[in-house]
Amino acid sequence: MKNKLVVTEEMSAAFGREVKRLMTAGGPTLESSMASLQWFADTYFPSAEPIPIILWCPSCNARHIDEGEFATRSHHSHACQTCGLVWRPAIVPTVGVQFLPGFKDEK
Ligand SMILES: [Zn+2]
Ligand SMILES: [Zn+2]
Repeated sequence: MKNKLVVTEEMSAAFGREVKRLMTAGGPTLESSMASLQWFADTYFPSAEPIPIILWCPSCNARHIDEGEFATRSHHSHACQTCGLVWRPAIVPTVGVQFLPGFKDEK
């Protein structure tokens, strides 16, 4: 399966070190935690295929479907086309889809 993320021992060890570094640096803030997660994602999933998910805007609840170039371009943050909120649903690249793969007859 193409989109399956495999977490290796090396990765969990690196993540553990990163968490420890944050804790000793005075505790994690929201920014430093996000930066760490971003670093982790960029380091270990640099070319990860975007994960198809059903997305709703957390602010206005509008359905978010990535179309056109956004449907194929890997992106972390999504911009609501209704209210303009930009949010990041996961640390890995995601793509908002109408149907999850396998839940609709294709072609
Ligand atoms: Zn999007
Ligand atoms: Zn919205």
